[in-house]
Amino acid sequence: MTAAPALVLAVRDVVVEYPGGVRALDGVCLEIHDGELLAIVGPSGSGKSTLLNIMGTLDKPTGGSVVIAGEDVTSMPDRQLSVLRGRWLGFVFQQFHLSEGLTATENVATGLLYAGVARKRRRPLAIAALERVGLAHRADHRPHQLSGGERQRVAIARALVHKPTLVLADEPTGALDTANGHAVLDLLTQLNQEGTTIALITHDRDIAARLPRRVEIQDGRIVTDTGLGRDTADGPFRTSDGSSRTGTAR
Ligand code: ADP
Repeated sequence: MTAAPALVLAVRDVVVEYPGGVRALDGVCLEIHDGELLAIVGPSGSGKSTLLNIMGTLDKPTGGSVVIAGEDVTSMPDRQLSVLRGRWLGFVFQQFHLSEGLTATENVATGLLYAGVARKRRRPLAIAALERVGLAHRADHRPHQLSGGERQRVAIARALVHKPTLVLADEPTGALDTANGHAVLDLLTQLNQEGTTIALITHDRDIAARLPRRVEIQDGRIVTDTGLGRDTADGPFRTSDGSSRTGTAR
């Protein structure tokens, strides 16, 4: 019998109020388990970015708690939080956020800066991450020499290079045309099948519909959650190599 997948992140009864009395999140509960691929979907203003910032430990909630890999991060000091982010989380943004002056490899290597990896190990790890996203042949290109889809793949490699427990992707296809957007989704699906846990935030229901679990948010509340983001037969949760599923054991 296989053990139940580890709980990677839990958002418990989270409330976020902004000055002026706007309640952006209103009692949100969400659990993400190792190996999942899920979409958090909702219209503009529904609270997605606020939730992403809470899950990514970039903001603190007004009420409730957030547990990541077994640790309550709600009251953690900032210094400890940045260590936690560097080890456990990977971020992918709509606008890629690559440094223009750095090559693809150097950009990916910045993902290791806060992960406690010795300098001489960073480059080979960055090249391996570029290989995983199919971009080894662009290792020495700078962002302006890459297409939008390629830039996003570099950003994904950067998010993965330190083997995070959870990747948070904020509208990762939002700046891409349909074909490149689908290619990025296919890549995220493949990486999930190889063991990476991914939460993707989107306003686009068609994108959400392609993922195994959909969590719908409206007016700061979760209104639908289709449940565990893993397939039973041959989907993301089955892996030929269980080693990549030990993300929380850090
Ligand atoms: P989404 O990402 O789904 O578009 P947000 O999380 O950005 O939604 O916003 C949720 C609600 O909180 C909206 O009503 C928005 O206007 C409000 N909001 C977001 N950020 C702030 C802020 N810094 N100050 C006040 N209100 C905010």
